[in-house]
Amino acid sequence: MATLADVLEARTVEAAAELVEPISKDRLRCFACGHECPLPEGALGVCKVRFNRGGTLHVPWGYVGGVQCDPIEKKPFFHARSGALAFSFGMLGCDLHCSYCQNWVTSQALRDPEAVSPPLDVTPADLVDEAVRLGSQVVVSTYNEPLITSEWAVAIFKEARKKGLLTAYVSNGNGTPRVLNYIRPWVDLYKVDLKSFDDRHYRQLGGRIDPILYTIRALHEMGIWLELVTLLIPGFNDSADELQRLTAFVASVSPDIPWHVTAFHKDYRMNDPENTTPEMLMRAAAIGEANGLRFVYAGNLPGQVGDLENTRCHHCRAVLVERYGYYIQRYRLTANGTCPDCGTTIPGRWGTRFGGQITASPFVPGSRRFRVI
Ligand code: SF4
Repeated sequence: MATLADVLEARTVEAAAELVEPISKDRLRCFACGHECPLPEGALGVCKVRFNRGGTLHVPWGYVGGVQCDPIEKKPFFHARSGALAFSFGMLGCDLHCSYCQNWVTSQALRDPEAVSPPLDVTPADLVDEAVRLGSQVVVSTYNEPLITSEWAVAIFKEARKKGLLTAYVSNGNGTPRVLNYIRPWVDLYKVDLKSFDDRHYRQLGGRIDPILYTIRALHEMGIWLELVTLLIPGFNDSADELQRLTAFVASVSPDIPWHVTAFHKDYRMNDPENTTPEMLMRAAAIGEANGLRFVYAGNLPGQVGDLENTRCHHCRAVLVERYGYYIQRYRLTANGTCPDCGTTIPGRWGTRFGGQITASPFVPGSRRFRVI
């Protein structure tokens, strides 16, 4: 019987020329993520989904490990098309190995035998047609790390653009100049998980902090709409000093970047820390606000974090978008994305109007177009 690795090996194409370079006669370097793996003949990258076979870098293609319709607030994007349906797909594999991963079924499928998710054979056109049929405004590459499967994401995003949809990455931000330039023309929104501000913590997760900080700066300079999330894990990344340095860095890139601080719950292999409390989130949020961040949100604990689910005008403090979890209770931005009370422009990629919310909770589309492999 074919293993999952066999199944995925058959679903590959040659890497985009921008994302690979020969190092020597039979060694290649991959540039799809910050590891920049040197790959001898036959070797798999750290991500376990890109590999050198016969001097060609093979990369994932033609399947998804999961599809789901999410409210855009779940990604989370709070400053883009409020209430929109975000048609979300992922492949398999990741370049990090976070023990608390909340998408481990897709991200760790090739490392962890318990993490099995049946892939589905799809075409970019079928995927986007389904997104349109369901009324989605945004197509999102998520669930596994999108940077490592950028060729496939770009193919889908090209179809999505033809249909007038926005496109987004939900990513750990472990990027390189080459991969960001490669996706730049096709990505509208980008969420980076800023997991810590300590390189030692990133090394525990299998990465380094420098490529993540580079990605955040570069995305902002490129004009791609960026929101950041920090999953607050008690005892891991919640010291006042670390949050102070982290939020000062974000503010130095731009005080207009929304920062979401979200609650950890025991998951996957990380069961030691206690769950994050509302008070911990509010303390972290206060540090971000004191450092000048204009849009700070607290997530995963609906109704328990005071005003930290709402968007306020940073000039006159009027409430502009009122939320309960992913549910939009009130929307007051003008068609131009300004505050109706004082006229201040609120940074983001707002729609010209709030057209209602198709769903405030995720659901799986029941399309027959996708064939289980
Ligand atoms: S995507 Fe990253 S981990 Fe995978 S082969 Fe390329 S550089 Fe290595």
